[in-house]
Amino acid sequence: MPGTVRFNGQDAIPGQKSFHWLKVTTRLDGSDLNIPIHVVSGTQAGPVLGLFSTLHGGEWLSIEMLRRVTEALDPTSMAGTVIVVPVANPAAFGQLTRMTPDESDAPDLNRVFPGDYTWTSTLLARKITDEILPQTDALMDFHLGLWGASFGTIVYGRDFTDPAVSERSLSMARAFGHPYIEREQLVSRFPGPGSMLGYAGEVMGIPSVISEIGGAGFSPGLEESWIETNVSGMFGVMQELGIVEGPAPCLDRYLMIEKTHRVNPSVGGYLHPELSEDRLMSEVHEGDLLGRVISPHTFEELERLTAPADGRLYLISRPYPVNPGDWAFGVVDNAYATWES
Ligand SMILES: [Zn+2]
Repeated sequence: MPGTVRFNGQDAIPGQKSFHWLKVTTRLDGSDLNIPIHVVSGTQAGPVLGLFSTLHGGEWLSIEMLRRVTEALDPTSMAGTVIVVPVANPAAFGQLTRMTPDESDAPDLNRVFPGDYTWTSTLLARKITDEILPQTDALMDFHLGLWGASFGTIVYGRDFTDPAVSERSLSMARAFGHPYIEREQLVSRFPGPGSMLGYAGEVMGIPSVISEIGGAGFSPGLEESWIETNVSGMFGVMQELGIVEGPAPCLDRYLMIEKTHRVNPSVGGYLHPELSEDRLMSEVHEGDLLGRVISPHTFEELERLTAPADGRLYLISRPYPVNPGDWAFGVVDNAYATWES
């Protein structure tokens, strides 16, 4: 029923939008660490969708996507509720770093669910696990490229023990209306269900999709197109769930991706892509030169990054300084990808 979503002892009011700070802990400097939460509560009964951004503090373009969706939603015509968490790790976002900037041995919020200790990340995970996830029926989490890199796929978990969770997740991925869908191992990829969505799906039975479409640091027009893709994708999922009216988009065909290759530098230097930024999801051939790493000190070429297989570029980068292992390129392996209708 509408109104059953509840934060800080306050029931959501049907037909209204509300905002809450969920207190997590007190920091050494005396300030509160709070998670921001928007609730858009429909007038009719329906499912609860949770939208999450910035579990990794360096992935922030999706905050703008969630802001636009929150503004555009009209609760008086909705059946169900949308919970929007634009900054799930405010401590990391404050430093624009992926990890929570503390000295803990568990700094990656998306690898510590459900949150067993009292490090900052585990306290954030515990708060989300206890007070947000149980109120949801479906989840979307946004993990775009860090500044300088952009991804191009929608991801769902194919390995939940309950196959119904994977099937419902696939329905959400298709309703997003984006033709490139990655079928990933969300549960078995890390030791234990090492992500928020892996935990929510495996332990709580909540279906989900991850958007990895877009990144910051590219031309404003291109970034705008990624923002619009994600905004319309969220509405597609809300239509699929019946929260907003209208048929969910259904494409003629989707490329179902089973295997990808990361092509990241093994040396630090200045990354010079050989491919323009509009090549995201375009075809490459095995051996194609994708980029070069140049020493910013001696100006020597330190490494050549080439496509390891025939496929499509699901990760591209703009010129920027990289550490060993930083994001550069990624190739969908054509031998493990099939078009399905
Ligand atoms: Zn991420």
